Amino acid sequence: MKKVLLFSLALALVGCKAQKDKNVKTADPMEYANTITADELKEHLYIFASDEFEGRDTGERGQKLAAEYLKNYYIQLGIPSPLGGDDYYQEVPGSYFTRGTVKDTENVLAYIEGSEFPDEIVVISSHYDHVGIDDQGRIYNGADDDGSGTVAILEIAEAFKKAKDDGLGPRRSILFLNVTGEEKGLVGSRFYSENPVWPIENHVTNLNIDMIGRIGEGMEDAGDYVYLIGSDRLSTDLHDISEEMNQKYLQMNLDYTFNDENDPNRFYFRSDHYNFAKHDIPVIFYFNGVHEDYHKHTDTPDKIEYDLLEKRAKLVFLTAWGVANADEPPFVDNPTLTDDAQ
Ligand SMILES: [Zn+2]
Repeated sequence: MKKVLLFSLALALVGCKAQKDKNVKTADPMEYANTITADELKEHLYIFASDEFEGRDTGERGQKLAAEYLKNYYIQLGIPSPLGGDDYYQEVPGSYFTRGTVKDTENVLAYIEGSEFPDEIVVISSHYDHVGIDDQGRIYNGADDDGSGTVAILEIAEAFKKAKDDGLGPRRSILFLNVTGEEKGLVGSRFYSENPVWPIENHVTNLNIDMIGRIGEGMEDAGDYVYLIGSDRLSTDLHDISEEMNQKYLQMNLDYTFNDENDPNRFYFRSDHYNFAKHDIPVIFYFNGVHEDYHKHTDTPDKIEYDLLEKRAKLVFLTAWGVANADEPPFVDNPTLTDDAQ
């Protein structure tokens, strides 16, 4: 009798311990961030930015192959599509494009459902299209633009999936949004924002990655840096989470130069996050700055700084973790509904 009781007590204690360890609010996100590795990013990028994908021009064969690569990856990892079944493609009709003639194309969507607030969506986005092949037959591989953001998402998705499999899935849902048509004028993200899977107001944050694999001009001595754009424009909460996660886990050099509202480059308006920001959804745009190979056929995977890419991808993962697991979504304390600039 005594033995049995002791055994039950021991079981109960083990049960408590397991229960405690499974609390996502106290779990160590670095355990999962560390599954994002330079080696795996490199492996993906050497395929994704290879000549086989023909510069991933929107609507063309290379872009379709790239879409298939993303879809197969999510299926292989058991990360579902919010569209249901094995339908990972949100069709964007060619007729939706206003500049030039473009064939039908697709955004690629995958997601991890939140355990407590499944209808609140944290979007992690990057564009997987690029500019194709020029008149001289040169392939624009777009390794940095935006192969780097695309492979970062693949690794981030894997990290969240591992956490979920360990009983530490995010409290809010996370949408992995691989958009098309960015190079044609932010078209895929605009299409998503007008045809969202959940009502647009359910999207509580967008972390957008566009070019995080290189060292931008003038930043040779900046160490482990990344430019953050937009983090405090709509929500102080989002900015604070981003800063806290970085301070606690990575200590990177977060550079806000391009976040200045008077910055002439106006990067805040120039990538896919803007299609969320214009709906007053808080955003952070992660960017390495421009460099000599920007929009040239020389933007190739051998020039990527993989260790730096790994750190930047970890930062996005940790920030998403912070937002997805907070008690409240980031409060929009500075709403500035703007005109549809697209
Ligand atoms: Zn880009």
